[in-house]
Amino acid sequence: MKLVNGRLAIALVVLLALGTGGPFAQQTPTKRNFEAEINAALQAAKTAAGFEFLGTLVRTCLLPQSGGENLTDVAPAYITDPSKAPPRDAWFAEPAKVFDNLYFVGGKLHSAWALTTKDGIILIDAIYPYNSEELIVGGMKKVGLDPARIKYVLISHAHGDHIGGAEMLQKRYGARIVMAGPDWDWVEKYPNRYKTMAPKRDIVATDGMKITLGETAVTIWLTPGHTPGTMSYTFSVLDQGKPVNIAYSGGTAFNFVNNTPDPGIKNFQTYIDSQKHIAAKAAETKASVLLSNHSEFDNAVNKNRMLAGRGDGPHPYEIGADSVQKYFQVMQGCARAAQLKLEQRAAGAGLAKGEN
Ligand SMILES: [Zn+2]
Repeated sequence: MKLVNGRLAIALVVLLALGTGGPFAQQTPTKRNFEAEINAALQAAKTAAGFEFLGTLVRTCLLPQSGGENLTDVAPAYITDPSKAPPRDAWFAEPAKVFDNLYFVGGKLHSAWALTTKDGIILIDAIYPYNSEELIVGGMKKVGLDPARIKYVLISHAHGDHIGGAEMLQKRYGARIVMAGPDWDWVEKYPNRYKTMAPKRDIVATDGMKITLGETAVTIWLTPGHTPGTMSYTFSVLDQGKPVNIAYSGGTAFNFVNNTPDPGIKNFQTYIDSQKHIAAKAAETKASVLLSNHSEFDNAVNKNRMLAGRGDGPHPYEIGADSVQKYFQVMQGCARAAQLKLEQRAAGAGLAKGEN
């Protein structure tokens, strides 16, 4: 009787399975819940952002994105008519000594950094043509640095807000200019777009390249995405004699074609892979400071003000290694959410064509 009951039970299970799409039924494709995946990616970005990286969250998750890089060869209005350059009030910021050997010489929105060594200065990013003279050259003099000692200028990417002063610094001081190959190509390809901001092709950066000067080295990591040649860095500075490790993010907004599944999905993957790459290097070097070339992303200008009242307190830029990782998680979460929206569109288009 026991056995019969067992057989009955098995038969019942089989019948149920056949009738209700259980394990024996033919598999129907599971429909992806894109909304849930998108929300999870956005939530991950929001959680990582906290209060520290709200600017990065707003830029990459919330604000509308450009549909792609502007590749016309037209000189910017601030070049053809200098009166069209933004007023000084809109960009001026005071220079600041941020670490023993690192100075902020940027503006309210866009940053430039002077890393001093016993053999000269490495300048990181060169802001606009219309304000590099006052902010970089003037700013360095204000904090007691000689701009003639600039030996290298690292250009994170070839946009006017970062390459603007490079031609002037190369011509005037003989500084070596470092940039990645694809962005050097742009400078040569678009003479009008880069008018007055086109240094002669010099050092072509490769992944892992070290720019060494005196006792200091900056390691370059290629992080294509924002532009095809965007570079990020890891390096060390001293804070009251104590070594502090920095991760520098060279490009943040989605400035590539991102409004169609092809090539948007692929472009977002390039961007996400790059963020993973620099995040891994930041983790390896135990970077506890995140720097950027936009104050919007690292709060540089506010932190410079906080530094003035630091006293014996903690360094306002030193947020800890976990927090540095969160910056890259914000970028990845926002990029993944945008990439998923394109995947959703591609899946919808496939269904409409009867591919599924
Ligand atoms: Zn840019």
